[in-house]
Amino acid sequence: MSDQQTLRVLIETVANRLIAAADELTALDQAIGDGDHGVNMKRGFETVLADIGTISAMPLPQALNKLGMTLVMKVGGASGPLYGTLFMQLGKEMPVAPTRADVAKAFAGAIAAVKARGKSETGQKTMLDVLVPVQEALANGSDNAAVVAVAEAAAAATVPMKAIRGRASFLGDRSIGHMDPGARSSAIIVRAVADAVEGRA
Ligand code: ADP
Ligand code: MG
Repeated sequence: MSDQQTLRVLIETVANRLIAAADELTALDQAIGDGDHGVNMKRGFETVLADIGTISAMPLPQALNKLGMTLVMKVGGASGPLYGTLFMQLGKEMPVAPTRADVAKAFAGAIAAVKARGKSETGQKTMLDVLVPVQEALANGSDNAAVVAVAEAAAAATVPMKAIRGRASFLGDRSIGHMDPGARSSAIIVRAVADAVEGRA
């Protein structure tokens, strides 16, 4: 497969998995938010798919930037600007043909940008509670299966947390006992990337 074909499969896999999970993400957001996370992500990634020919013809950094800009414009809510920032910053920091170490480094920079944008940290029951341990696993040289396991365990570990950021924080202690929707969508993205890379699109 050419690099552009690989990139296309990667983005399509992420988009298709998130679109397929829309009801699950909505249900999670209904429990501790306003019930729009599934619809938000679906809308954003449907727009990405509609533009997949253009996006996947771009070099990786530009494609990531374009993906991020699309999410900012189309996802909305809190997660649109945050996922948008994540992908745009990945685009800024990623070389055209990254090694695994390059990916870990660029991902660290992208997470820093999300933290700045969201004024948030780990332990606050957000997508960061998945993104940060996944980055650490990548930086430690974990293989794809281990990284996916970290992502899914980290999403599950948001269940007992109390939300300190985002809409769920309005619930205070009542946010405890539910998985954070953004943590779940992040874990879905991580599994989708690993599956696409290993030919399980
Ligand atoms: P909204 O909360 O505006 O309805 P979504 O439902 O699409 O937006 O996304 C909610 C998710 O966004 C949360 O589950 C959480 O993971 C993430 N989130 C919200 N605020 C922040 C923040 N300040 N920092 C990091 N992630 C956040
Ligand atoms: Mg919401």
